[in-house]
Amino acid sequence: MMENTIDILGVHIDFVTLAQAEEKIWRFLKEDKLHMVFTPNSEMIMVAMNDPKLQEVLNAANLKTADGIGVVHASKILGKPLKERVAGFDLAKRIVEKLPQTGHSLYLLGGAPGIAETAKQNLEKQYTGIKIVGLHDGYFDVQEEQRIIREINTLKPDIVFVCLGMSKQEKWIYDHRNELKTKLCMGIGGSLDVFAGKAQRAPDIFIKFGLEWFYRLIKEPWRYKRMMALPKFAVTVFLKGKRQK
Ligand code: UDP
Repeated sequence: MMENTIDILGVHIDFVTLAQAEEKIWRFLKEDKLHMVFTPNSEMIMVAMNDPKLQEVLNAANLKTADGIGVVHASKILGKPLKERVAGFDLAKRIVEKLPQTGHSLYLLGGAPGIAETAKQNLEKQYTGIKIVGLHDGYFDVQEEQRIIREINTLKPDIVFVCLGMSKQEKWIYDHRNELKTKLCMGIGGSLDVFAGKAQRAPDIFIKFGLEWFYRLIKEPWRYKRMMALPKFAVTVFLKGKRQK
Protein backbone atom coordinates (compact mmCIF):
# COMPACT_ATOMS: atom_id res chain seq x y z
CA MET A 1 0.00 0.00 0.00
CA MET A 2 1.24 3.46 -0.81
CA GLU A 3 2.15 5.52 2.20
CA ASN A 4 -0.13 8.44 1.59
CA THR A 5 -3.30 6.36 1.49
CA ILE A 6 -5.30 4.37 4.00
CA ASP A 7 -6.90 1.06 3.08
CA ILE A 8 -10.50 1.13 4.24
CA LEU A 9 -12.06 -2.28 3.54
CA GLY A 10 -10.16 -2.52 0.27
CA VAL A 11 -10.54 1.05 -0.95
CA HIS A 12 -7.44 3.25 -0.71
CA ILE A 13 -8.37 6.73 0.47
CA ASP A 14 -5.85 9.57 0.05
CA PHE A 15 -4.58 11.39 3.11
CA VAL A 16 -5.58 14.86 2.02
CA THR A 17 -7.39 17.83 3.44
CA LEU A 18 -9.85 19.75 1.27
CA ALA A 19 -7.13 22.31 0.48
CA GLN A 20 -4.61 19.60 -0.46
CA ALA A 21 -7.15 17.80 -2.64
CA GLU A 22 -7.81 21.08 -4.44
CA GLU A 23 -4.06 21.59 -4.93
CA LYS A 24 -3.78 18.14 -6.49
CA ILE A 25 -6.56 18.94 -8.92
CA TRP A 26 -4.86 22.13 -10.14
CA ARG A 27 -1.72 20.07 -10.65
CA PHE A 28 -3.68 17.43 -12.61
CA LEU A 29 -4.96 20.20 -14.88
CA LYS A 30 -1.40 21.08 -15.84
CA GLU A 31 -0.83 17.58 -17.23
CA ASP A 32 -2.03 16.55 -20.64
CA LYS A 33 -3.76 13.32 -19.68
CA LEU A 34 -7.01 12.21 -18.09
CA HIS A 35 -7.20 12.10 -14.29
CA MET A 36 -10.02 10.49 -12.33
CA VAL A 37 -11.22 11.94 -9.04
CA PHE A 38 -13.69 9.96 -6.91
CA THR A 39 -15.11 10.70 -3.49
CA PRO A 40 -16.23 7.42 -1.88
CA ASN A 41 -18.47 7.39 1.16
CA SER A 42 -19.01 4.47 3.51
CA GLU A 43 -21.97 3.20 1.50
CA MET A 44 -19.85 3.02 -1.65
CA ILE A 45 -17.01 1.28 0.18
CA MET A 46 -19.50 -1.32 1.45
CA VAL A 47 -20.87 -1.87 -2.06
CA ALA A 48 -17.30 -2.21 -3.36
CA MET A 49 -16.66 -5.04 -0.87
CA ASN A 50 -19.01 -7.19 -2.93
CA ASP A 51 -18.24 -5.60 -6.28
CA PRO A 52 -14.61 -6.24 -7.27
CA LYS A 53 -15.01 -4.12 -10.40
CA LEU A 54 -16.09 -1.11 -8.33
CA GLN A 55 -13.15 -1.65 -6.00
CA GLU A 56 -10.77 -1.76 -8.97
CA VAL A 57 -12.37 1.36 -10.43
CA LEU A 58 -12.12 3.33 -7.19
CA ASN A 59 -8.51 2.34 -6.60
CA ALA A 60 -7.58 3.32 -10.15
CA ALA A 61 -8.44 6.96 -9.45
CA ASN A 62 -5.69 9.57 -9.25
CA LEU A 63 -7.39 11.00 -6.18
CA LYS A 64 -9.91 9.41 -3.81
CA THR A 65 -11.20 11.50 -0.94
CA ALA A 66 -13.38 10.62 2.03
CA ASP A 67 -16.80 11.94 1.12
CA GLY A 68 -18.57 10.93 4.32
CA ILE A 69 -17.87 11.37 8.00
CA GLY A 70 -18.23 7.56 8.31
CA VAL A 71 -15.02 7.14 6.33
CA VAL A 72 -13.22 9.59 8.63
CA HIS A 73 -14.43 7.64 11.70
CA ALA A 74 -13.29 4.42 10.04
CA SER A 75 -9.79 5.82 9.57
CA LYS A 76 -9.68 6.60 13.30
CA ILE A 77 -10.81 3.10 14.20
CA LEU A 78 -8.04 1.77 11.97
CA GLY A 79 -5.50 3.95 13.80
CA LYS A 80 -4.55 6.16 10.83
CA PRO A 81 -6.87 9.14 11.20
CA LEU A 82 -7.79 11.22 8.19
CA LYS A 83 -7.71 14.92 9.07
CA GLU A 84 -11.10 15.77 7.66
CA ARG A 85 -13.91 14.86 5.37
CA VAL A 86 -13.47 16.01 1.75
CA ALA A 87 -16.96 15.93 0.27
CA GLY A 88 -17.30 15.82 -3.51
CA PHE A 89 -19.55 18.86 -3.51
CA ASP A 90 -17.12 20.94 -1.43
CA LEU A 91 -14.24 20.00 -3.70
CA ALA A 92 -16.25 20.72 -6.86
CA LYS A 93 -17.31 24.08 -5.41
CA ARG A 94 -13.70 25.06 -4.66
CA ILE A 95 -12.84 24.32 -8.27
CA VAL A 96 -15.76 26.13 -9.94
CA GLU A 97 -15.19 29.22 -7.79
CA LYS A 98 -11.76 29.68 -9.37
CA LEU A 99 -12.60 28.74 -12.97
CA PRO A 100 -13.28 32.34 -14.04
CA GLN A 101 -9.66 33.19 -13.13
CA THR A 102 -7.98 30.01 -14.36
CA GLY A 103 -9.99 29.89 -17.60
CA HIS A 104 -10.35 26.10 -17.61
CA SER A 105 -13.45 24.88 -19.41
CA LEU A 106 -16.13 22.63 -17.91
CA TYR A 107 -18.67 20.10 -19.24
CA LEU A 108 -21.63 18.99 -17.10
CA LEU A 109 -22.89 15.44 -17.53
CA GLY A 110 -25.73 14.00 -15.49
CA GLY A 111 -28.93 14.64 -13.58
CA ALA A 112 -32.53 14.56 -14.75
CA PRO A 113 -33.34 16.47 -17.97
CA GLY A 114 -33.06 20.22 -17.31
CA ILE A 115 -30.85 19.94 -14.22
CA ALA A 116 -27.53 20.50 -16.00
CA GLU A 117 -28.98 23.55 -17.84
CA THR A 118 -30.18 25.09 -14.59
CA ALA A 119 -26.88 24.31 -12.89
CA LYS A 120 -25.07 25.99 -15.82
CA GLN A 121 -27.24 29.11 -15.56
CA ASN A 122 -26.73 29.33 -11.80
CA LEU A 123 -22.98 28.82 -12.04
CA GLU A 124 -22.69 31.43 -14.80
CA LYS A 125 -24.63 33.90 -12.69
CA GLN A 126 -22.55 33.23 -9.60
CA TYR A 127 -19.13 32.92 -11.23
CA THR A 128 -19.09 35.44 -14.04
CA GLY A 129 -16.81 34.39 -16.86
CA ILE A 130 -16.91 30.65 -16.10
CA LYS A 131 -16.64 28.64 -19.33
CA ILE A 132 -19.26 25.88 -19.34
CA VAL A 133 -18.84 24.59 -22.87
CA GLY A 134 -21.42 21.80 -22.94
CA LEU A 135 -23.82 19.62 -21.02
CA HIS A 136 -26.05 16.56 -21.22
CA ASP A 137 -28.53 14.94 -18.84
CA GLY A 138 -27.71 11.64 -17.18
CA TYR A 139 -30.30 9.46 -18.86
CA PHE A 140 -29.04 8.18 -22.20
CA ASP A 141 -28.88 4.97 -24.23
CA VAL A 142 -25.80 3.49 -25.86
CA GLN A 143 -26.24 5.44 -29.11
CA GLU A 144 -26.68 8.70 -27.28
CA GLU A 145 -23.65 7.84 -25.20
CA GLN A 146 -21.49 7.68 -28.33
CA ARG A 147 -22.81 11.09 -29.33
CA ILE A 148 -21.96 12.50 -25.89
CA ILE A 149 -18.42 11.14 -26.07
CA ARG A 150 -17.96 12.61 -29.56
CA GLU A 151 -19.28 15.94 -28.31
CA ILE A 152 -16.89 15.96 -25.35
CA ASN A 153 -14.00 15.09 -27.65
CA THR A 154 -14.88 17.92 -30.03
CA LEU A 155 -15.24 20.46 -27.23
CA LYS A 156 -12.20 19.15 -25.30
CA PRO A 157 -13.27 20.57 -21.93
CA ASP A 158 -10.53 20.64 -19.29
CA ILE A 159 -12.96 19.23 -16.72
CA VAL A 160 -16.00 16.95 -16.91
CA PHE A 161 -18.30 16.67 -13.90
CA VAL A 162 -20.06 13.30 -14.09
CA CYS A 163 -23.20 12.95 -11.98
CA LEU A 164 -24.87 9.61 -12.71
CA GLY A 165 -25.26 8.41 -9.13
CA MET A 166 -22.94 6.42 -6.96
CA SER A 167 -20.92 3.62 -8.64
CA LYS A 168 -22.52 4.20 -12.05
CA GLN A 169 -20.59 7.45 -12.55
CA GLU A 170 -17.27 5.98 -11.37
CA LYS A 171 -17.64 2.96 -13.67
CA TRP A 172 -18.67 5.19 -16.56
CA ILE A 173 -15.58 7.36 -16.19
CA TYR A 174 -13.33 4.31 -15.82
CA ASP A 175 -14.80 2.51 -18.83
CA HIS A 176 -14.34 5.57 -21.05
CA ARG A 177 -11.07 6.87 -19.61
CA ASN A 178 -9.09 6.00 -22.72
CA GLU A 179 -11.57 7.61 -25.12
CA LEU A 180 -12.34 10.90 -23.41
CA LYS A 181 -10.30 13.96 -24.38
CA THR A 182 -10.29 15.85 -21.10
CA LYS A 183 -7.86 16.31 -18.22
CA LEU A 184 -10.15 15.71 -15.32
CA CYS A 185 -13.24 13.58 -14.75
CA MET A 186 -14.84 13.96 -11.38
CA GLY A 187 -17.74 11.81 -10.14
CA ILE A 188 -19.79 14.07 -7.92
CA GLY A 189 -23.19 12.37 -7.50
CA GLY A 190 -26.03 14.71 -6.61
CA SER A 191 -23.88 17.87 -6.81
CA LEU A 192 -25.48 19.07 -10.04
CA ASP A 193 -28.83 18.99 -8.24
CA VAL A 194 -27.30 21.24 -5.56
CA PHE A 195 -25.78 23.62 -8.14
CA ALA A 196 -29.20 23.66 -9.84
CA GLY A 197 -30.87 24.58 -6.54
CA LYS A 198 -32.98 21.40 -6.64
CA ALA A 199 -31.32 19.88 -3.57
CA GLN A 200 -29.70 21.42 -0.53
CA ARG A 201 -26.71 20.55 1.59
CA ALA A 202 -27.40 20.24 5.31
CA PRO A 203 -27.04 23.49 7.30
CA ASP A 204 -23.39 24.18 8.28
CA ILE A 205 -23.99 23.31 11.91
CA PHE A 206 -24.90 19.73 10.95
CA ILE A 207 -21.83 19.44 8.74
CA LYS A 208 -19.58 20.90 11.46
CA PHE A 209 -20.67 18.26 13.96
CA GLY A 210 -20.47 15.42 11.44
CA LEU A 211 -24.24 15.00 11.35
CA GLU A 212 -25.06 15.63 7.72
CA TRP A 213 -26.22 12.01 7.42
CA PHE A 214 -28.70 12.65 10.27
CA TYR A 215 -30.07 15.73 8.51
CA ARG A 216 -30.55 13.72 5.32
CA LEU A 217 -32.27 10.96 7.25
CA ILE A 218 -34.84 13.45 8.53
CA LYS A 219 -35.28 15.17 5.14
CA GLU A 220 -35.27 12.01 3.03
CA PRO A 221 -36.52 9.26 5.35
CA TRP A 222 -36.93 6.88 2.39
CA ARG A 223 -33.14 6.70 2.32
CA TYR A 224 -33.09 4.93 5.66
CA LYS A 225 -32.73 1.51 4.05
CA ARG A 226 -29.58 2.65 2.26
CA MET A 227 -28.37 4.21 5.48
CA MET A 228 -28.56 0.89 7.26
CA ALA A 229 -25.26 0.27 5.50
CA LEU A 230 -23.66 2.79 7.89
CA PRO A 231 -23.82 0.84 11.18
CA LYS A 232 -22.83 -2.28 9.23
CA PHE A 233 -19.86 -0.36 7.86
CA ALA A 234 -18.79 0.75 11.36
CA VAL A 235 -18.97 -2.81 12.71
CA THR A 236 -17.07 -4.24 9.73
CA VAL A 237 -14.29 -1.66 10.09
CA PHE A 238 -14.14 -2.25 13.84
CA LEU A 239 -13.76 -6.01 13.39
CA LYS A 240 -11.11 -5.51 10.72
CA GLY A 241 -9.26 -3.08 13.03
CA LYS A 242 -9.27 -5.70 15.81
CA ARG A 243 -7.86 -8.31 13.49
CA GLN A 244 -5.03 -5.98 12.51
CA LYS A 245 -3.98 -5.35 16.13
N1 UDP B 1 -28.57 10.10 -12.20
C1 UDP B 1 -28.38 10.19 -13.57
N2 UDP B 1 -28.49 9.07 -14.33
C2 UDP B 1 -28.79 7.86 -13.80
C3 UDP B 1 -28.97 7.76 -12.39
C4 UDP B 1 -28.85 8.91 -11.62
O1 UDP B 1 -28.11 11.27 -14.08
O2 UDP B 1 -28.88 6.89 -14.54
C5 UDP B 1 -28.44 11.33 -11.40
C6 UDP B 1 -29.65 11.67 -10.60
O3 UDP B 1 -30.56 12.38 -11.41
C7 UDP B 1 -29.04 12.54 -9.52
C8 UDP B 1 -27.63 12.00 -9.34
O4 UDP B 1 -27.42 11.14 -10.45
O5 UDP B 1 -28.91 13.86 -9.98
C9 UDP B 1 -27.40 11.27 -8.05
O6 UDP B 1 -28.35 10.26 -7.96
P1 UDP B 1 -28.62 9.46 -6.63
O7 UDP B 1 -29.01 10.39 -5.56
O8 UDP B 1 -29.49 8.30 -6.95
O9 UDP B 1 -27.16 8.93 -6.41
P2 UDP B 1 -26.20 8.69 -5.20
O10 UDP B 1 -26.74 9.37 -3.97
O11 UDP B 1 -26.19 7.22 -5.12
O12 UDP B 1 -24.91 9.27 -5.71
